[in-house]
Amino acid sequence: MNNNFIVEKFGINKAVYNFFIDCENSVKDKFQEIDEIANINQSKVLWAMQKNKLSEIHFQSTTGYGYNDLGRDVLEDIYKDIFKTEDALVRGQIISGTHALTTALFANLKYGDELLSPIGAPYDTLLGVIGIRKTKGSLIEHGILYKQVDLLEGDKLDFDGIKAAITSKTKMITIQRSKGYSFRKSFTINEIKELIEFIRNIKKDVIIMVDNCYGEFVEEIEPTEVGADLAVGSLIKNLGGGIAPAGGYIVGKKELIENCSYRLTAPGLGKEVGPSLGITHEIMQGLFLAPGVVSASLKTAILAAFIFEKLGFQVNPTFSEKRGDIVQSVKFGTPEGVISFCRGIQNGAPVDSFLVAEEWEMPGYDCPVIMASGSFVSGSSIELSADAPIKEPYIAYFQGGLNYNHGRLGILIALNKLWIDEIIRF
Ligand SMILES: *Cc1c(COP(=O)(O)O)cnc(C)c1O
Repeated sequence: MNNNFIVEKFGINKAVYNFFIDCENSVKDKFQEIDEIANINQSKVLWAMQKNKLSEIHFQSTTGYGYNDLGRDVLEDIYKDIFKTEDALVRGQIISGTHALTTALFANLKYGDELLSPIGAPYDTLLGVIGIRKTKGSLIEHGILYKQVDLLEGDKLDFDGIKAAITSKTKMITIQRSKGYSFRKSFTINEIKELIEFIRNIKKDVIIMVDNCYGEFVEEIEPTEVGADLAVGSLIKNLGGGIAPAGGYIVGKKELIENCSYRLTAPGLGKEVGPSLGITHEIMQGLFLAPGVVSASLKTAILAAFIFEKLGFQVNPTFSEKRGDIVQSVKFGTPEGVISFCRGIQNGAPVDSFLVAEEWEMPGYDCPVIMASGSFVSGSSIELSADAPIKEPYIAYFQGGLNYNHGRLGILIALNKLWIDEIIRF
C-alpha cells in the first residue's frame, strides 16, 4: 500500500523498485554495526552536554564583540570533551572546512617552516591554500615550505618515503582522513594511529593535524584520541547534523588552539571575541543530532554501494568494507552516467528537486563539474548531495542523508533516473 504510493508518486518503474527492495534486504545486516557506533557517539555527546551543564541560557545570542558569550564558551567545552582535547575553537565565523584548515595552518607555521603531507596530494581547495596550485596569499607565498609523499600502489602509505621526508625543518604534518574527491581509500582511525606512532618515533614534537572532514562519528573514537595534536572540520558536514547554518571547528592542544584563535580574530583578542549571533542553539542541536545523521549517511552509502556494485559498476568503498568517512564513489565510466546520476539525486532532494543539474566550469577545477545539492543549508554536504567532475574515468561522489528514510528514497529516485535515461537495464 505504502509502496504503491512511492511507485506512483515518484514514477518509479516496478522492476527498479523490486530490485531496490531486494538490495536493501541484502544489506540490512550491515546496519547493526552502524547503529552500535551511533549509540556510542550519541552517549559521548549526551555526556558532554550534561557534564558542561548545558542550559537554556546558553542559547542566548551576543552581538558586536561578543564578550562573555556563555553559550559559545560552553559549546567549545563540549567539543573539547567529545574530542578529549585540551581546547577547542568552534565558531560560526569559520566559514568552511577550508577556512578552518587555513586557520590552523597559518596559525602554526612560520616563515621557513615545512609542512608535510604523507598521504599524497590533499583536498582540492587545499592545493590553493598551500600554494601547490599558484594562489595569491598561499602558505608558499608566505615562505612556508611544502613536501608531500605520495601513496604507493594499493593506496599504501610509503613509510620509507615518509621517514626520509621528515627533517629538522618539518614543523607540521597534515593527514587527510577522508578520500575527499579521489578514488583512494579513506584512512581508518587505526591506520591514522599507526601513522602517528610512526611519525612520533622519528620526530616527537612535530605538530600533527588531521583534516577530519567527513570522518566525524564514523568510528567510535576520533583522531585526537590516537595522538593527533589538532583535528579540523566543517559544521556543514557531519558535526553540524544538517542543522548548523554555518561554521567550523578546530580541536586540540591548548597552545595550538590559542595560536588559531589569534589567527582567526586578532593577536591579543583570540577566543574572547566573536559574537554567536543567535546560532549557538542550532550548532548545539546539530551536534546532538549528528551521531544519528552520520549513521543515516553511512547506511545510505552502504545501500548505494551494494546496488551499484550489483549493477556492475566499480564502487569505493564496497558495501562490506570498513568505512573511514561518509563519501561513496561510483565509477560510471561515461559522462552520460554521472550526469544522469547527479540529476537523479537532485530530483530526490527536498529543496529544488525540480531543477535540472548542469555541469559548469567551477573556479579552481580543471574541467566542468556537475553538482546536485537540494539542501536546506546552502552547500551542505551532510544532506544528500552528489558531485562529479566531467572527466575520465567519470566518477560520481556522493554523501549525506539527514535520515535513512530519505537517503534510501534519494537513491531509489536516482536509480530510477538512470533507468529512464537507459544507463542501466535489468
Ligand atoms: C570538504 C572537505 C574540506 C573542506 O571543504 P569546504 O568545502 O571548505 O568545507 C577539506 N578536506 C576534505 C577532506 C573535505 O572533505
